[in-house]
Amino acid sequence: MAHPDDEVLGCGGWIAQLLQSGNDVSVIFTTDGVRHSPISTDSKGDAYEALQVLGVKKDHINFLNIKTQRSDEYVLRDYTEQVEKVGKDIDLVIVPSKHDLNIDHVFAYNLALICFRPVKYRSRIVTMEIMSSTEWSDRPFHSNYYIDISKTIDLKIEALGKYVKQVLPFPHPRSPEAIRIKAQQRGLEVGYLYAEAYHIIRWF
Ligand SMILES: [Zn+2]
Repeated sequence: MAHPDDEVLGCGGWIAQLLQSGNDVSVIFTTDGVRHSPISTDSKGDAYEALQVLGVKKDHINFLNIKTQRSDEYVLRDYTEQVEKVGKDIDLVIVPSKHDLNIDHVFAYNLALICFRPVKYRSRIVTMEIMSSTEWSDRPFHSNYYIDISKTIDLKIEALGKYVKQVLPFPHPRSPEAIRIKAQQRGLEVGYLYAEAYHIIRWF
């Protein structure tokens, strides 16, 4: 992930579902969670609360502490070791799309692809849709994998509610109503009540 809230917006339903079925989930945020505009906010604390709602353990949450919206000033290679340490033996990696309208999302994508290159790891990689970024790109998100989140949509929306400064009133895409509508839209494409859509980069 790049920012606290990416994980809930993009894959909160799937994270909750994976944990409920007995899997282990670790989250790595590339940035420090501090936003500098329009007002300065630190969302690290919110991230711990949101991920607790989904069921992620506190010691499975990591921050690489890159300055938000400044990823282009950092060198990818400097962060691969930290990511590989957390991601050793991981069989599924969920990352933002490289086409997102956000430099931090693109950095997170590139970092993941370098760290989980197939000659070293057998990690499946998918990109996710992050409302208020993915849909603002000039390129439509190509969904070719769907997860039924009908049982975890309420947890996803509850988790989003922990990001008190990021959640905005409807019709902003980061509103609870918009998240539900988006999940319904992805659901009806494949016959689920609610779904999250993903794009497969690599699958084993
Ligand atoms: Zn983000």
